[in-house]
Amino acid sequence: MKVLVINCGSSSLKYQLIDSDSEQVLAKGLCERIGIDGRLTYQKAGCDKEITEAAMPSHKEAIQMVLHALVNDKTGAVKDLAEIEAIGHRIVHGGEKFESSVIINDEMIQAVEECTELAPLHNPANLTGIRVCQELMPGVPMVAVFDTAFHQTMPPKAYVYGLPYEYYEKYRVRRYGFHGTSHSFVSKELANFLGLDINHSKLIVCHLGNGSSVSAVLNGKCVDTSMGLTPLEGLVMGTRSGSIDPAIVEFIAKKENLDIDGVMNVLNKKSGVYGITKGLSSDFRDLEDAAAEGNELAKLALSIFAYDVAKYIGAYAAAMNGVDAIAFTAGIGENGPDTRTEVAEYLGYLGIKLDEEKNQMRGFNNKISTEDSKVAVCVIPTNEELAICRETVALVK
Ligand code: ADP
Repeated sequence: MKVLVINCGSSSLKYQLIDSDSEQVLAKGLCERIGIDGRLTYQKAGCDKEITEAAMPSHKEAIQMVLHALVNDKTGAVKDLAEIEAIGHRIVHGGEKFESSVIINDEMIQAVEECTELAPLHNPANLTGIRVCQELMPGVPMVAVFDTAFHQTMPPKAYVYGLPYEYYEKYRVRRYGFHGTSHSFVSKELANFLGLDINHSKLIVCHLGNGSSVSAVLNGKCVDTSMGLTPLEGLVMGTRSGSIDPAIVEFIAKKENLDIDGVMNVLNKKSGVYGITKGLSSDFRDLEDAAAEGNELAKLALSIFAYDVAKYIGAYAAAMNGVDAIAFTAGIGENGPDTRTEVAEYLGYLGIKLDEEKNQMRGFNNKISTEDSKVAVCVIPTNEELAICRETVALVK
């Protein structure tokens, strides 16, 4: 089955056409600057990237251009759009309503609309993507895959905040967690790769990218995760502060004469390793280069990040009363051997030892701990699009 996977952001759209039988990507790309001017990147498997600048006043034109590219005479991945048998959409926030992926219908769209308050930037864009596909490809079954769904198995002790309980009852203020598609995919891959029975396993997944989160997966189910009501909580990230003393919000607002939006903007866009390094970069490659040249703030930012990851691993080993295996994934998790080494240095008490030669390799499922390490540590490349494709096929078939 050929499945189109769509991930709509507020001004961008990533897509992949996947053959679900072979799990090969037939074509992929992205639309950028939607609503500004517009640029389509399209790449058929085995061919060069094609970049087209064209007006994309809205997501409708963007998706039209993607569909057009997929059937174009020269490099189209399919002859006819009718070959696309299903569409999988990534939806950021499913609130408490969605514990798993669902077939898209009117009732489900209504329920996602009701979650918009929880993800005001993302959910409207995701819904636009769904509506445009319904219009342009009527009759093609579509599935919604939620970033929050995998974390819905957390027990109340992990998701209820120490706030007046009425806020949970009235406004659903609680921990939701994000990157769920990745945590779900990587935890299953990790168990498979190590030959563990996932139903009797204690796993920790470290998804470390621009946005980073850690999750505790007990017997295949998420029991805790570091992001919260929004993706701002948890680890120090590229530009997000992660967890801080909430009283800092008021303190900074007064000192810097900022309103609540101003402070939130600082916490989301000007903090994290970017903020710690006085705006040097949010990209770990830049920070590693700067640290190697002796930049003290870059060294500090990298060490804060590794320390944070190690603390979550310790917390989740406690939450599950042990840990069998740890996976590193996403941009930094997959490509940052120095970060992995630094994290592992805190974990000697768990009997963790890394094989430094294996730790330098990349690009495939890889066990990087030594044979006598008490906990297996692995690099497991994430693949959110493939996960969405698999979920879509499972529901459509
Ligand atoms: P997102 O999907 O959240 O935008 P990614 O998972 O692509 O982010 O991760 C981006 C991060 O991964 C950046 O900080 C980038 O520096 C880091 N990264 C990518 N390649 C490397 C590398 N070779 N070494 C260290 N960090 C890397």
